[in-house]
Amino acid sequence: MKLKSTLMRVALAASLVAAGTSMAAQVTYQYLNQTHNELRNWAGQYANPTVYYDRAVCSQDMTAYACGQNIQLGTRFLQQVENSYPLAAKSVFAHEWGHSIQFRYGIYSQAPYQELQADCVSGSYTYYAERNLGYQGLFRSAQQLAYAIGGDPTHGTGSQRATYVRNGYNTSGNLVRCF
Ligand SMILES: [Zn+2]
Repeated sequence: MKLKSTLMRVALAASLVAAGTSMAAQVTYQYLNQTHNELRNWAGQYANPTVYYDRAVCSQDMTAYACGQNIQLGTRFLQQVENSYPLAAKSVFAHEWGHSIQFRYGIYSQAPYQELQADCVSGSYTYYAERNLGYQGLFRSAQQLAYAIGGDPTHGTGSQRATYVRNGYNTSGNLVRCF
């Protein structure tokens, strides 16, 4: 009986964890630190930027930016992203990581291809993260976000952005194929 109730508690805890993965995460510094580690493990050999939270190191605009080997992330902005598209804060972080790789290697393309390449890197990360880190639904969220926020000349249309996130996913996590 004791064993059985223990097993039931374990099952309940597991189902809560499963339910939690489909809900928006709290975009805490801890959550972002964890994502930073994931990105470093995946792509640290191509760029290893310094990441700042809620600090205007690249822009006064507190969304998400990369400049040189710095990334700045606004937690309020990322929470809004996360609330609409669960796990997508990670895909934004991965997009900025893509810019860090461009800057490190001096890769500069015309608009909107500079941005679409970063979307490709983000999509590549979603494949890696779904397969290796258990973030089911990340690709779908990343693609929906890309589609929703597209439309300005710098970043490309929503359709272009969603396509490049998919192109990235189709690299099977090998981001080099985005370049
Ligand atoms: Zn960008």
